[in-house]
Amino acid sequence: MLKQIAEQLVKTGSYINGRWQQSAQHFTVLNPANQQVLLSVADASASDAERAVCAAADAFASWAALPAAKRSELLQRWYQLVMQHQDDLARLLTLEQGKPLSEAKGEIAYGASYLQWFAEEAKRLYGDTIPAPSNDKRIIVQRQPVGVVAAITPWNFPNAMLARKAAAALAAGCTFIVKPAHQTPLSALALAELAHQAGIPAGVFNVVVGTDAKAIGEVLTQHVKVAKFSFTGSTAVGKQLLKQCADSVKRVSMELGGNAPFIVFDDADLDAAVQGLMAAKFRNAGQTCVCANRILVQQSVYQAFADKLAIAMTQLKVADGLTDGCHIGPLIDDKAVAKVTQLLQSALDDGAKLLLGGSAHSAGAQFFQPTLLTDVQPQMAISNDEIFGPVAALMAFDSEQEAIALANSTEYGLAAYFYSRDIGRVFRVAQALQFGMVGINEGIISNAAAPFGGVKQSGYGREGSKYGLDDYTDIKYLCLGGLQPAM
Ligand code: ADP
Repeated sequence: MLKQIAEQLVKTGSYINGRWQQSAQHFTVLNPANQQVLLSVADASASDAERAVCAAADAFASWAALPAAKRSELLQRWYQLVMQHQDDLARLLTLEQGKPLSEAKGEIAYGASYLQWFAEEAKRLYGDTIPAPSNDKRIIVQRQPVGVVAAITPWNFPNAMLARKAAAALAAGCTFIVKPAHQTPLSALALAELAHQAGIPAGVFNVVVGTDAKAIGEVLTQHVKVAKFSFTGSTAVGKQLLKQCADSVKRVSMELGGNAPFIVFDDADLDAAVQGLMAAKFRNAGQTCVCANRILVQQSVYQAFADKLAIAMTQLKVADGLTDGCHIGPLIDDKAVAKVTQLLQSALDDGAKLLLGGSAHSAGAQFFQPTLLTDVQPQMAISNDEIFGPVAALMAFDSEQEAIALANSTEYGLAAYFYSRDIGRVFRVAQALQFGMVGINEGIISNAAAPFGGVKQSGYGREGSKYGLDDYTDIKYLCLGGLQPAM
């Protein structure tokens, strides 16, 4: 199966200036479900990244000069090709990343929806005219592409995180280089193959795959020809890359870690809240930056909610993502398993109670049982670190104010969720939560029409929506003077 997909969609080296690169050095891509080698890929170096930057810089002027309708048409074609290959792209994604095939199909459609959305937005890059302070002047505002955009993307959504950055950049008229995570380069290379087939010109979209993230990252964040840098990944790495961008004063977007609270108030529809939590917690085996991390439940409904959640969790099927009906696949690597195990153990040592699961799963070395913890406290490590695994950690609260204070007591501010049927409370709590995105009676919030992004140390910049082009454009003000008033 992999052989067939790879033959059609994956060339095993970086895609730079419209060509596939080879190298003496290679690295292997492993299937996290069984640790078997999937493919060997040419390992790009910092000088390959530099060539990609120069190619993107050379391609910029003619790409930016294309009529928006033409850029739109090319993005549409790319979108259509991705959707035509949805099944194969999804299999490839599951093989390298581990998530259940149904989720992988969803990710391909979700990533493609950004290509489609920004194909449309490309045509709506409007400016403004502003009333001038005197009649002999006109004030005109235009939006122009920032230039070459470089990006680094993570392994948890190897297709969609890349597509949603590239789509906005290309729509705005920027050229683009991306370094995907070395654990999951195949989905990125497949997107490059389809960009090539769609007719996106050489140098406009480049993918540099390599294991030396630090060296490649230095080029992408420090090269003077890169105008903007966009990152999705951990807060620690993001902070470092932000510093690296300072010397050349780059435009930067950062989509960093989260520590999402999921609040269940006493007036909530508990069944709906359980359903919402199952989606917000267990998607991608709990490995998303918007996953519910701290589940805050009002004391009077705490036991009832925990009981309903336990029943729902026993239905979760843990297996290789290609297995029919699978809900939870493997974690990405052994470090991820070690981190979840350690956070769980430390919570138990500090007094949390185990209701379900609690250890590795028999499906394989990197599988973890869906785990339910109660009596979790705010100061525990599990309440302060991103769990990134299938562990639901329940904490009780008494009042609305307490819930808001607990929810906001984190340096992160990406996503938050709450369930309530009281309209007054809905508006009060929505206003008070210090997060970039709030799901109200809803556990799945992300789509191309909506602005995705965080506040506080979760970063800045927005991806998707009508705001999504802002990060890729500069505002240029034209002052037209010397206009004589009519005689
Ligand atoms: P995660 O915990 O999700 O792996 P990381 O922030 O480590 O998050 O990884 C996200 C992306 O950042 C990946 O593409 C990874 O290769 C890249 N990365 C990690 N460390 C560095 C670094 N020092 N410089 C540049 N990129 C890095």
